Amino acid sequence: MNDNPAFGASLQPFMGIPSFMRLPVTRELTGVDAALLGIPFDSGTSYRTGTRFGPRKIREASLMIWGHNTTLNVTPLKNLKVVDYGDVSVIPTSIEHTMTAITETASEIIAAGATLITLGGDHSIALPLLRAHAKKYGPVSLVHIDAHIDTWEAEFEAVPYSHGTPFRYALQEGLIREGEYMQVGIRGPVSGENDYDDARKLGARLVTIHEVMEKGVTEILREVHTRMKGPVYVTVDIDSVDPAYAPGTGTPEVGGLTSYQLLQLVRGLHGLNLIGFDLVEVSPPYDHGDITAILAANIAFEYLSLLAIKHR
Ligand code: MN
Ligand code: MN
Repeated sequence: MNDNPAFGASLQPFMGIPSFMRLPVTRELTGVDAALLGIPFDSGTSYRTGTRFGPRKIREASLMIWGHNTTLNVTPLKNLKVVDYGDVSVIPTSIEHTMTAITETASEIIAAGATLITLGGDHSIALPLLRAHAKKYGPVSLVHIDAHIDTWEAEFEAVPYSHGTPFRYALQEGLIREGEYMQVGIRGPVSGENDYDDARKLGARLVTIHEVMEKGVTEILREVHTRMKGPVYVTVDIDSVDPAYAPGTGTPEVGGLTSYQLLQLVRGLHGLNLIGFDLVEVSPPYDHGDITAILAANIAFEYLSLLAIKHR
């Protein structure tokens, strides 16, 4: 923890400068186990914008996280050296330039040996993040928690990348291990009758919200553990959660996970070979009482707790 009194670990949550959980803000990565990275970007969104304000708001919400995880019985910042690396220098008017910047920054962090915990940003950021991880680890096992499949065909041929297409390209580029891609929480009306079948044909094991609710989270987690054999990357779209719990997002879909079920899903990844994580689509302008940002901060903390257990 940072002992600088102007910034300090001993401050009340409402005081000081809001880095994630008051971690030191630094790009020095020697001996660092995990690094927080913000990607304040929303130019990949197709409906409501605002995710560029996500990382800052999640950092602010994280100041209420006191440090000890009572469910997993671990104090992550005691076991791990973690830093807040700051934000990627995005270019709001260019998704392609921003994607290049994301892959470069992420690659620096991963190459230094730190596990990356990324706060988005819209879901388009997952493709450049997966490119960076695959560079080091080879194709990854992918757990994708979302209301949306995000394997859609590009809407505009001239601009293939958006928050609706990252996993189509990740599959096509060979960034994901065959048979080791699960989409969990999928729901809502879509434009084409074959959209879900297309996702399955591309290689996704598509788990609808109906299946989650019918079988229960424990059963879904059992399949995750059976299926995932490689290094596991986790990407969480906050719109997987019901808008009643997470209204601050760009493309809300009714009938989603509860906050508790998302916590359960992330906690349940315990024991897998976890190598990277992102949490995307928090849009503070549509939030109420910061409830979405608070959930997002806690989900990132939960993942950090899993890393601490893995490290122990
Ligand atoms: Mn998504
Ligand atoms: Mn989504």
